[in-house]
Amino acid sequence: MRRIVVAGNWKMFKTFQEMVSFCCKLAGYASEFEELPVTSIICPPFPYLHTSVEIFSATDVHIGSQDVSMHDFGAYTGEVSAPMLISMGIEYSLVGHSERRQYHQETDIEINLKVKILQSTGVVPIVCVGEKEQQRDEGKTDEVVTSQLETIFADIDIAADTNLIIAYEPVWAIGTGKTATPEMAQDVHKLIRDWLEIRYNKTIAERVSILYGGSIKPDNFAALLAQPDIDGGLIGGASLDIDNYLNLLQTGIKIAQEGK
Ligand code: PEP
Repeated sequence: MRRIVVAGNWKMFKTFQEMVSFCCKLAGYASEFEELPVTSIICPPFPYLHTSVEIFSATDVHIGSQDVSMHDFGAYTGEVSAPMLISMGIEYSLVGHSERRQYHQETDIEINLKVKILQSTGVVPIVCVGEKEQQRDEGKTDEVVTSQLETIFADIDIAADTNLIIAYEPVWAIGTGKTATPEMAQDVHKLIRDWLEIRYNKTIAERVSILYGGSIKPDNFAALLAQPDIDGGLIGGASLDIDNYLNLLQTGIKIAQEGK
């Protein structure tokens, strides 16, 4: 049974003080639970990682980075490596977010290297894939997503107990207010799960969490989560506001407790 994941990607938002205020409020909520019924992940900007891990240390909230270097150590000014992340208690890292692809020309080959280094270090990758608007309009969504998966996982072994998250984020839905309908998202999530079964096996396909991302808001999250292959959300804008994030978390908890 896959746990619902509610992951917030803060991108390059919030001052240090705003980060502390949000995290203290979320920690207060999470401390009411011995174990949260869903997996709550916050991905703050790099400089806030250490403090946020400290704030959540007595809670069941997890911290992820928004990116990672494809190198483990070395003269790579401005980069942050997977061994650094794990040494700070960071459990997750986004890789291949469309904003990294768009503004930093990140390729599927680089994303493959990042996934490998994360896996060898013990940080759980949250691998982002998704088509652009024109590609969807041309009916190429399945082809684009499959091609991304083929390259990213080309030489990656996944054991039955490997922790891996894939986020389907249609580029046209990120930060635009346009959300894929639950049915549109489900179709691609099913494609990804079927691909995992063919590439690996049924056990792995059933184990990997597949999140939807793209203008999730408190009023559309429940309908997305009701779909059989949507295991959670990767949430940008709406995760910046503590009330919205708590609302999304509570939606996830309700569905986790009631069952799909
Ligand atoms: C994201 O940044 O991954 C994202 C999905 O953003 P938003 O929720 O704002 O569309």
